[in-house]
Amino acid sequence: MKKSLTFLGTGTSQGVPVISCSCEVCKSKDKLDKRLRSSVLINIDKKNILIDSGPDLRLQLLREKVMKIDCVLFTHEHRDHVAGIDDLRSLYYSNKNEIPLFMSSQVYEALKRDYSYLFSNLNYFGKPKFLVNIIKNKPFKIFEEKIEPIQVMHYKLPVFGYKISDLAYITDANYISKLEKEKLKGIKILVVNCLQIERHISHFNLDECLDLINIVKPHKAYLTHISHNLGLHKTVQERLPKNIYLAYDGLKINF
Ligand SMILES: [Zn+2]
Ligand SMILES: [Zn+2]
Repeated sequence: MKKSLTFLGTGTSQGVPVISCSCEVCKSKDKLDKRLRSSVLINIDKKNILIDSGPDLRLQLLREKVMKIDCVLFTHEHRDHVAGIDDLRSLYYSNKNEIPLFMSSQVYEALKRDYSYLFSNLNYFGKPKFLVNIIKNKPFKIFEEKIEPIQVMHYKLPVFGYKISDLAYITDANYISKLEKEKLKGIKILVVNCLQIERHISHFNLDECLDLINIVKPHKAYLTHISHNLGLHKTVQERLPKNIYLAYDGLKINF
């Protein structure tokens, strides 16, 4: 079965360039240094699974000419991963199908609080229909495809990574327990957040990513959720070991 992952965005919460920053990365003319907020689109047998609906969702879906989303998986409730949820309305209007959302109860509580109009019981004109599925740290199925959550820590906040077939997508992590790392054994493609060169309180830095990749030993690894502090795409890529790639916006990989 044909499966692909498209990076809709590969930037950290501020995106790259950062507003009002004049560092060389933010001033770079290379389009690989332009990073919208992180999310991915997984396509499995013509079904579109969106992981996170960040604040740049509208631009991302227009850029990739996405005509439908069959379901959304959320990793956690931070704004750079959910703030585009309102733009799912347009897809509901054109396709008329309710959109299944998969999230932890912690994410659901946050979304109900922050986007109460989307989740209220009141039916008003223009309200999209979402079908909320609360998930736990246990495998579940979407369209016959097994999805295995991987619980990682974003400083003190639990975040879900997702394993689908031989691919794992892990964003906003700075710690993965031994038990959860077991789930990554044998995967072929690892996508993992890599914020910057310096250590950070809630994200892996480059060295920590390389350590993780060394343990997991995927065939290929892609780094995402990148800040301007990581450096110019071209320069960083040249220094990376074989089979480790900096992701960029619009990159599509098959798995
Ligand atoms: Zn984030
Ligand atoms: Zn900058």
